[in-house]
Amino acid sequence: MERVVEPKIMNANTFDAIVPLSDSLTIGGPDLVLMAGPCSVETYEQTRQVAEAVHAAGVRVLRGGAFKPRTSPYVFQGIGEEGLDILRSVADEFGLLVVTEALGIEQLDRVAQQADIIQIGSRNMQHFPLLWAAGEIGKPVLLKRGFMATVDEWLMAAEHILSRGNDRIILCERGIRGFDPSTRNVLDVAAIAQVKQQRRFPVIGDPSHATGRRDLVLPAARAAIAAGADGLIVEVHPRPDEAFSDGEQALDLAQFRELATEVGKVGQALGRGLA
Ligand code: PEP
Ligand code: MN
Repeated sequence: MERVVEPKIMNANTFDAIVPLSDSLTIGGPDLVLMAGPCSVETYEQTRQVAEAVHAAGVRVLRGGAFKPRTSPYVFQGIGEEGLDILRSVADEFGLLVVTEALGIEQLDRVAQQADIIQIGSRNMQHFPLLWAAGEIGKPVLLKRGFMATVDEWLMAAEHILSRGNDRIILCERGIRGFDPSTRNVLDVAAIAQVKQQRRFPVIGDPSHATGRRDLVLPAARAAIAAGADGLIVEVHPRPDEAFSDGEQALDLAQFRELATEVGKVGQALGRGLA
């Protein structure tokens, strides 16, 4: 018979699914948390321009990839450690938190030095040693859903982090692979609702990777919030056509302002404000 261990219950909050991100910000409560920024950190100026605009629109967490999990090894791979430093200094200027991805265990400490939230990407959702290591780091973890993962596999991946002592976990629905190439992925709004029903982890939506199309990011964002997401993570670039990665799905600064307004309206209809 298979041997199972009782899941760890870290504290009462785990089951209320309210996760503190900083002294003044939590996720999973009534207020929605917006995270936004470029797919990749390219330059200080580019990151600063985005941060200034998204901060003014109500964003609390700056995103940006320094280490990028690119499908092809022959394209831009991120600017690495320099990107972490840029994120930190720009975020500090605007009083934002930083979320950025650690691709492997060897990057975790360096990422944790500069980031407030460690992102584990879709391709790494079942990289168990990375999950265990993230479980031992004293920072919140944003766990993106594997693009081929079931909801149960995703929740179990979160349990791997939890099992090592870290109860600050935020899930992110970023779309799963479908059969239709008209969108990059399929935003699984029912998965968002399912995860919320469990009341175990907060969940946010990523309408950028879910659709892969700038023109669909806004409606997908509205849908994620309507389904119960506790926030969003959105890709924004001052000049999307010049982006080093994922330009097709990046909103420009004006489009992001519109998204924030629209998401505010959906939130309001549900009795939720912006954090
Ligand atoms: C990202 O957020 O930049 C990213 C690479 O996302 P995902 O892991 O969901 O593909
Ligand atoms: Mn991206």
